[in-house]
Amino acid sequence: MANKPKINTLKCSCVKCWVETDHEILSVAENSAEERDGTSWGYIYKFIQCLGCKTASIREEFWFSEWDHGHMEITYYPPRTKRRRPDWLDQLEDRDPVLFSLLKEVYEAADYGHHRLMSMGIRSVMDHVMTYLVEDIGGFEKKLDALVEKKIISDKQRELYDTVIEGGSAAAHRGYKPPWALLENMLELMEFLINQSYISGPMLEAAKVHIPPRPSQKKN
Ligand SMILES: [Zn+2]
Repeated sequence: MANKPKINTLKCSCVKCWVETDHEILSVAENSAEERDGTSWGYIYKFIQCLGCKTASIREEFWFSEWDHGHMEITYYPPRTKRRRPDWLDQLEDRDPVLFSLLKEVYEAADYGHHRLMSMGIRSVMDHVMTYLVEDIGGFEKKLDALVEKKIISDKQRELYDTVIEGGSAAAHRGYKPPWALLENMLELMEFLINQSYISGPMLEAAKVHIPPRPSQKKN
């Protein structure tokens, strides 16, 4: 029996599978140069395909002669997703197209590691959602107060959302680069408010009508 042709593979994280998988290297292209000072550099482009889900992507390996042997800068196109999109994201496309496209940009900034853009985006999303909930009554402080007044958020949550907005403001006006751990917290709080306001809140409100009421207690 003839042997199966050997395929060239490498292990890397898959954009769809969310874990490291074997990828087949379908083709390779190179571009390198030597500088006058004797140093050299180059790019190796690998067109790869996940052997699990079959998604294809490009892996770019950049090397420089002065780096430690074997050290390379690796970039993927499309980038490896750093933050999983919430399941309900697509439901927003019709309900609120502006919010949907704002969120898409926030998650793209996350994938590319653009921390400042991401926190500014989260701040814009918060402004959009708060205006939807309490109308355009003024600045962030006023809107947060109105959310507490309408019992949409608690006093404790108000403090947390204040920090989320402050993180975005510091990035926009003071050049602050929030660390990833803080951005993840900011994203979680933002997602919670959107889910509560646009997805699960209205869904549960509608479901109330169909839930049979508790039987009334017999009086002695
Ligand atoms: Zn895959």
